[in-house]
Amino acid sequence: MDQKRLEKYANLIIQAGINLQQNQTVVISSPIETAEFARMLSEAAYEKGAREVVIDWNDELSKKIRYMKAPSELFDEYPEWKKQFYQFYSEGGAAYISIAAEDPELMKEVDPDRIMRAQKVANKANKKFRNRLMSNENTWNVVSVPTVSWATKVFPDLAPDQAVESLWEAILTAVRVDAADPVKAWQNHKNNLETAIYWLNKEQFQQLHFKNSLGTDLFITLPKGHIWTGGAEVSQQGVDFIANMPTEEVFTLPHKRGVEGKVVSSKPLQYNGKLIENFSMTFKEGKIVAFTAEKGYESLKGLIETDEGSAYLGEVALVPHDSPISNAGILFYNTLFDENASCHLALGKAYPVCLENGTLMGEKELEEAGVNDSLIHEDFMIGTSDLIITGIKENGNHVPVFTGGNYAIKW
Ligand code: ZN
Ligand code: ZN
Repeated sequence: MDQKRLEKYANLIIQAGINLQQNQTVVISSPIETAEFARMLSEAAYEKGAREVVIDWNDELSKKIRYMKAPSELFDEYPEWKKQFYQFYSEGGAAYISIAAEDPELMKEVDPDRIMRAQKVANKANKKFRNRLMSNENTWNVVSVPTVSWATKVFPDLAPDQAVESLWEAILTAVRVDAADPVKAWQNHKNNLETAIYWLNKEQFQQLHFKNSLGTDLFITLPKGHIWTGGAEVSQQGVDFIANMPTEEVFTLPHKRGVEGKVVSSKPLQYNGKLIENFSMTFKEGKIVAFTAEKGYESLKGLIETDEGSAYLGEVALVPHDSPISNAGILFYNTLFDENASCHLALGKAYPVCLENGTLMGEKELEEAGVNDSLIHEDFMIGTSDLIITGIKENGNHVPVFTGGNYAIKW
């Protein structure tokens, strides 16, 4: 890939993604396969005034060896130093960049119980850190960079180098790198999302009804004072940043106990190195009471049974079927991209920023207001070309929100 385009991408992440402040520390979580790009980010960050760039390297193959060979009790432990590592930098006000580039099926042969236990202790240990990010106390940004193993899954018919090149192309297009001024292009994109956000916030629907031919027939109650957001986030220090690149969604939170009916997945979900495919969930008073999966049932079960809140929803997000990533027609097997090509929901923790005064509320108050809490937050895709979403107002009026997979209203 052309170095100039990669440098533009790195600069975009530093300037618009985390919106680096002078003398700020940056923590980059990077797979070893994407080291070259992590170094570019590091260079761009120092050039823009970073105090220090700390790279948190990870290697999924070593992780797999550990899962396959290590003694079982290891997966119920989490090292204190690692917990301190995340906490130390986040409390010092660091910005976080995470490169998401997993091999979608790497952990296929791994015992799902080991993964689930390890994930649970890690999430528990890092709860404070994760809460800081989810309430925007620190700025953060998730991006992707191709690896051979991921790219060849997305483009199975291409030779490895060509697959990587094609995935780069798809990523760079999705993040608008080729605009004359990508930072400005993102500003315009954020403004477009604002139009939908403004309308949804003004309407204050009490309920959304999702229906399509896959079998989705779901009612989602939205809590009073819910806030739709998307595009840009604002940190608690007032710094604008973009949490996901790309991002095409606008989202809010469902009322924890207000979800009724059935939802059917429209794309595979890659979770901890395993694929969950053709799955459905049935909700009663917000809770999943039944679920099915043609593939990855054990992983889905593990995910839903993580804790009390993982059987409830924490996010509802709208993405037109006719959007740039969706139109590219590529199945990425990577939630960062697939969720931005499809309406989606998330199991688990809700973002407190999606409720009026949510970031000022304690755990108990949030629970009472219907803001779900969990160690997990996992998006899954439900949008289709025939999705209909109807907004139901407090007075019982029905307003079309989506018809044929796209916004029903033209602003
Ligand atoms: Zn989302
Ligand atoms: Zn989400």
